[in-house]
Amino acid sequence: MFTESFSSAPLAALSRRRFLKITAATFGAAATASQVGCVADKVTGEKGIRTVATTCDVCFWKCGVIATVRDGELWKLEGNPLDPLSRGRLCTRGTAGMGMREDPYRLRAPLIRTGERGAEQWKVATWDEALDYAAERLKKLAAQHGPETIAFFKHGIGAYYVEHALKAFGTPNVAAPSFAQCRGPRDVGFNLTFGTNPGTPENTDIANAKTLVLIGSHIGENMHNSQVQEFADMIRAGGTVIVVDPRHSTAASKAKYWLPIRPGTDIALLLAWMNVIVREGLYDREYAGKYGEGFDKFSEAIADKTPEWAAGEIGVDAELIRTTAREMARTRPATLIHPGRRTTWHGDDAQRSRAVALLNALMGNWGRKGGFYVPNYIGLADFPGVPAYPKSTKGKADNPIIDGRKRWPFADQTVTTGLREATITGQPYPVKAWVVDATNLLQSMPDRRRTLEAIRALDFLMVIDTVPSEITGYADVVLPEAVYLERWDAINDDSLRTPFLALRQPVVAPPHEQKPGWWIGKELGRRLGVEKYFPWKDVEECLRVRIAEGGYDWAALKAKGILIGKQAPIYIDDGAEVTYDTPSGKVEFWSKQLADKGFDPVPKYTRPDEGPPGSYRLLTGRAPMHTFSRTVGNARVAQLMPENKVWLNAAEARKLGLANGTRVKLRNQDGVESGPVPVMVTERIRPECVYLVHGFGSEAKAWKGAYRKGASTAQLSTRVKIDPLMGGTSIHTNFVTLEKMA
Ligand code: SF4
Repeated sequence: MFTESFSSAPLAALSRRRFLKITAATFGAAATASQVGCVADKVTGEKGIRTVATTCDVCFWKCGVIATVRDGELWKLEGNPLDPLSRGRLCTRGTAGMGMREDPYRLRAPLIRTGERGAEQWKVATWDEALDYAAERLKKLAAQHGPETIAFFKHGIGAYYVEHALKAFGTPNVAAPSFAQCRGPRDVGFNLTFGTNPGTPENTDIANAKTLVLIGSHIGENMHNSQVQEFADMIRAGGTVIVVDPRHSTAASKAKYWLPIRPGTDIALLLAWMNVIVREGLYDREYAGKYGEGFDKFSEAIADKTPEWAAGEIGVDAELIRTTAREMARTRPATLIHPGRRTTWHGDDAQRSRAVALLNALMGNWGRKGGFYVPNYIGLADFPGVPAYPKSTKGKADNPIIDGRKRWPFADQTVTTGLREATITGQPYPVKAWVVDATNLLQSMPDRRRTLEAIRALDFLMVIDTVPSEITGYADVVLPEAVYLERWDAINDDSLRTPFLALRQPVVAPPHEQKPGWWIGKELGRRLGVEKYFPWKDVEECLRVRIAEGGYDWAALKAKGILIGKQAPIYIDDGAEVTYDTPSGKVEFWSKQLADKGFDPVPKYTRPDEGPPGSYRLLTGRAPMHTFSRTVGNARVAQLMPENKVWLNAAEARKLGLANGTRVKLRNQDGVESGPVPVMVTERIRPECVYLVHGFGSEAKAWKGAYRKGASTAQLSTRVKIDPLMGGTSIHTNFVTLEKMA
């Protein structure tokens, strides 16, 4: 499952001459050899071998890495054994991280648009020209509409300093797709129940669980390093795995019970499980009595949700529902119903996640071994000694008050798609500029057409990225960021079992004109007139101050990459304390908060919509060698999966006359077509759905390594249901037909 190292073998057989030709053509006649040289062009003259401790950024998990440099160039990446996240082992993507540095199509120099938006035509600019121009445009728009007219979209820790500059300039409109397009429904569902949520990384004690229930959560396909390692530990120790998924996933192949339910019927199953556990008195009565609020009303609300009722909806036997409910109860509190991560499926996702939270509450597993541990956290101050950000009088644009109530009352973070709507409609006020940092919004938000409509309504779009992803093609200014192996970033002090600090520091220098995010933030901030928010001379001084204020040793952190803090108990039984930050101060089985806002206080099941006759529901997910669209052009992992395949049930394939490997295009209910992909004929998926890995089908011509590789799920997701509680956007509400390519 894991590889220990990945040597720096020669990459794609692309001659330097041809490479220069392609790149010059991409960036227009203004591009010169100095902006288009390959990685090896900057010869350092360094000899010998050295190692640097840093952290991975191929995904947001930020595992500790030991990077080895040989004769001045990256040689291999391995896990840092001191790191509690990676435990000394990286996943496939992490070991192949140098592919991001080597990408022959990566951005090299700042660019200013010369052609139509989307035409990917720019002139090469100096950093001064690009930043001066960007700051001038942003200041002009802010003078007209207020600083709130700037929306900042980000993904990951690299955006930390640019976010700081823009917040200092006065915009509150800072959003990440990780909320409304990913884990937001889960966090809201858990907040409503426990007053807190599983966080990032999740406080799931998988390693010690005796029963693990995965509901549409594909551990092993979503390669979150520590969770996969714990999953393997748990299986090795003889734990029971129950998987609920219309698809026989990798996790399902490890399961004792696989419940291939009809897509969209999860709430029916969850209610039936809770019905069995409550009726048979199998729940943790002591926990519910001591910490629960509204248990009787909850119990009444699920009284008729029997396995027999659910079986007809979900397409799985009532007896299997009963058996698995009893199995869960048998091992409680060491029974973990995994909260999932990308929980935006059908538009009722916060309520489904609340049902998952309630089932966990019946297990009495919050703060208990094998359930959810109480995380430790060092918690450094963000920017010691800088002034508070100015307070916006307008507030955020994403979630306006309508009829006396916020549109999505329980959204506690900015909703990306809410900002997209504000950009299109100009309501509640005009959003005229986007700054987009390391998130390809044409893939990370559903309905590409709607995103393009918003982009057309903008006066200014600036993109900061390492590669010319699709969104860069529409940018007025493109700023090339150094990849994570070439830059400092903010310190990682995420909460975990073990309190820790992790440092990202440069291993090698950027090969061209690329700059780190902290430098871009500082220089943009200076031009926007907020230099007092950047009082340090460079990023190292900023990090050193943060570390010193926390009482930690900077030199030790630089040398080891990881510092471990003082361990506090993580289980209630060992003295850890748990508080429930809900209005009642208890676990809310029946939610007054929801009832007061006109929502169901206990989750209710609604039958999912049917698709047009002859169509299949499109399901999406992850592959272990890819991180969204970010890695599709990384030649090292693209060798393992160059494009996505559409999974199709074998009986359906026979009906359609499609064989394994036949190339098809997908057409959705609104007539939107994908690029061609091969069919994977399999018994491992229910007949009414098909499945595609997300992140493929890039339309960015400049990013040749990813261009038109596979089919884009974002493009096919034009029918979106919005979660009424928190604004999350459903992805599994689209239907497609398959058409054989000539
Ligand atoms: Fe890197 Fe893999 Fe860890 Fe993500 S899980 S940070 S890709 S090693």
